[in-house]
Amino acid sequence: MNSEKTYYIENLGCAKNQVDAEVMISALDSAGWIMTAQPSDASLIIVNTCGFIEPAKEESVDVLISFRDAFPDALIVAAGCLAQRYSDDLSESMPELDGIFGNNSVTMITDFVERLGAGNSQYVSVPALGELGEADFSRDDRYTVYRKTLLSGKSTAYVKLAEGCSNNCSFCAIPLIRGPVRSRPVESIVEEIKSLTSSGIKEINLVAQDLGSYGRDLDSDEGRGKCLLPRILGEIESIPGDFIVRMLYIHPDNFPDEILGICSSSSRIVPYFDIPFQHASAPILKQMNRKGDSAVYTALISRIRQALPGAVIRTTFLLGFPGERREDLEELERFISKAEIDWAGFFVYSPEEDTPAFDMESPRKLKKRAKTAQKHLDRLQQIQSDITASRLKHFYGTRQRLLVEEGVTGEDLYFCRAWFQAPEVDSLVVLHAEEGSLSPGAVVDAEITGINGIDPEARLI
Ligand code: SF4
Repeated sequence: MNSEKTYYIENLGCAKNQVDAEVMISALDSAGWIMTAQPSDASLIIVNTCGFIEPAKEESVDVLISFRDAFPDALIVAAGCLAQRYSDDLSESMPELDGIFGNNSVTMITDFVERLGAGNSQYVSVPALGELGEADFSRDDRYTVYRKTLLSGKSTAYVKLAEGCSNNCSFCAIPLIRGPVRSRPVESIVEEIKSLTSSGIKEINLVAQDLGSYGRDLDSDEGRGKCLLPRILGEIESIPGDFIVRMLYIHPDNFPDEILGICSSSSRIVPYFDIPFQHASAPILKQMNRKGDSAVYTALISRIRQALPGAVIRTTFLLGFPGERREDLEELERFISKAEIDWAGFFVYSPEEDTPAFDMESPRKLKKRAKTAQKHLDRLQQIQSDITASRLKHFYGTRQRLLVEEGVTGEDLYFCRAWFQAPEVDSLVVLHAEEGSLSPGAVVDAEITGINGIDPEARLI
């Protein structure tokens, strides 16, 4: 095809970045551009990069280089977090890119692409935070509310409640890339969920850098500084339709207990809590600019399980942080064994320049520490996967509604997800059903007939 107004978008990174890509698609489609399934059919290729940690940055650069080499006639644009964070370095090191587009104003992509290729020079548009005024994510939702093309699986969508983060964890580059928290108005989010669910979406995943900070920057009836997550959940309860809602990313220091009552009386908002604890040792958490410790986090988990006995909790842990001692790792292991969290991801600390933690320890010491951390990580991961497997046993013999993700070719099998499994990070349910009888995105009733490791098995009912 390769006619003039065709584009291909390659999305990298997290769910928040994916929403940006979907907003850019929405804007470009509204401006008459045609999205292609193959990069070879496009005159414009946009790589929505990730710039969070070293491995993600390297992957983004590799993808840009591979597209540049493979499609010499196409216009190649670097968008997303790497472009926002390193626009000058990218412009210098990759003059072969046609454009560099920041993620502060994704709705402005249509104006940006109109200027590409002018004068055969590279076009860079990376407005600094706050430079844009009205045209900022939280105020311009023309294309956000009515996203038609979603990059998730069928029948599921991410809804971003806010941009940026003001928690300033010492290891994290997000505030440098996305700026302080800017919450979307409640009405805009409700409108978007109505639009998505009326077009057949069955699963809404609420995302932000920290849902616990949602609304604290807004003047509301509840007063400035108040988390508005309970309010938005209340509003979502009144939207007609058959769909579920899952919350992803609530900072433990900002966990709004009021949501527990709302969840316990709701059949739609699932008791799934994604709370990145990052560690359990007080000295390390303090160094991370976080307030908790294993006692505080254990108490939070007990409050959740008291209010919602069947609740499912997901978290992430960061090992190898500067100053981490053997006793800190032992504290973490005790916490993991005692807390019995349903799902957990483990990462080794990656020093990020310009973050407060970057200079806390020498690269030589950090390298040595990363090696030790990896050993601990492997063992903790094993402990955790045994816990996950035993927690999943609670679902044996239960009836569940499953969202079909895909069929297994040549088999009477489907990969599905239940409410206790978030997209992309948790395991899948293996459903036994006749090949060709179900379509991706279908929601079916099933019985959990077995648990193989961390993969439940099910049959239709
Ligand atoms: S909560 Fe902390 S780790 Fe998460 S985005 Fe904000 S600063 Fe980064």
